[in-house]
Amino acid sequence: MEEIVIIGSGCAGMGAAIYAARAGMSPLVIEGAQPGGLLTTTSDVENFPGFPEGVNGFDLLWKMREQAQKFGARIENAVVEKVDFSGETKKVFCSGEKVFEAKKIVVATGSSPRMTGAKGEAEMYGGKGVSACATCDGAFYRGKDVAVVGGGDSACEEAVFLTRFCSSVKIIHRRGEFRASKIMADRALSNPKIEPVWDSVVDEILPDENGLCRGVAVRNAKTGEKSEIACKAVFVAIGHKPNTDIFKGILEMDDEGYIVPLSGTQVKTNVENVFVAGDCADKTFRQAITASAMGCMAAILASS
Ligand code: NAP
Repeated sequence: MEEIVIIGSGCAGMGAAIYAARAGMSPLVIEGAQPGGLLTTTSDVENFPGFPEGVNGFDLLWKMREQAQKFGARIENAVVEKVDFSGETKKVFCSGEKVFEAKKIVVATGSSPRMTGAKGEAEMYGGKGVSACATCDGAFYRGKDVAVVGGGDSACEEAVFLTRFCSSVKIIHRRGEFRASKIMADRALSNPKIEPVWDSVVDEILPDENGLCRGVAVRNAKTGEKSEIACKAVFVAIGHKPNTDIFKGILEMDDEGYIVPLSGTQVKTNVENVFVAGDCADKTFRQAITASAMGCMAAILASS
């Protein structure tokens, strides 16, 4: 039986792992489908304290991982498929028919990119021109015209990143102003390769004769006017949804699927000895530092 199992290996899971390991709990971290979590797909993280020059997202997570392992955390390459939190012994059923039993659990499953649902998006996702990760796929479109969908920090950051490779980047946003922080919005709008397309909703990703992206059909949200934007890739950056499906009916969650911590605790769930940390429970802050801090809090409570 494990003292503590941490489900997820992003900022929250690693924050929990470092603190649980230093508390002598020898945590088992189940790393999930994306080892290191979403931040590993980010290029430069400029707001994590301690890195005045910025730090690559992948490098930051790998440092956290090394730090946790240094103090005795063990990392299991598996994906959790089902959990049973009904008894005192918590059971975690994973891919490869692995089952782990634990006294305490930290749920740190993070979130996944939201997609627009526009016609053609699913068909062209993953290699045919639709992507949710500029850091992963941007370099494939060197010298090409591309588009980003969204108006938040992610959309602006992805657009600026894409200007390293691409000839031009259109940011297609459904409103007439960005939701992004001023510094990120200014950085995008002042870049000569970036052009915003305001008040525009994506109706369809248009395929060429080989089924690859050739452009986007958009509709003006105010006038209804339709037009096409030629581009070889579309990067969707419209936010995220929490990865909490396996906890439905077990952990209390809101209408959007975010786990709701017990009032006043931030990291305790409705099930005793099951804690939660990071983006699967946080729709307000969603930062690397807040996720790590929630992991820390969960581990401190779990070890006390
Ligand atoms: P976000 O702030 O929730 O923004 C999502 C954007 O997508 C909004 O502009 C929204 O439009 C648009 N959108 C949502 N659903 C849509 C749909 N179905 N069709 C078209 N557009 C849609 O998400 P985010 O940009 O991923 O940022 C998430 C969090 O991470 C934020 O707290 C952000 O500050 C943080 N973050 C920080 C950094 C950084 O500081 N370096 C980088 C990335 C992210 P509306 O504006 O009309 O709602």
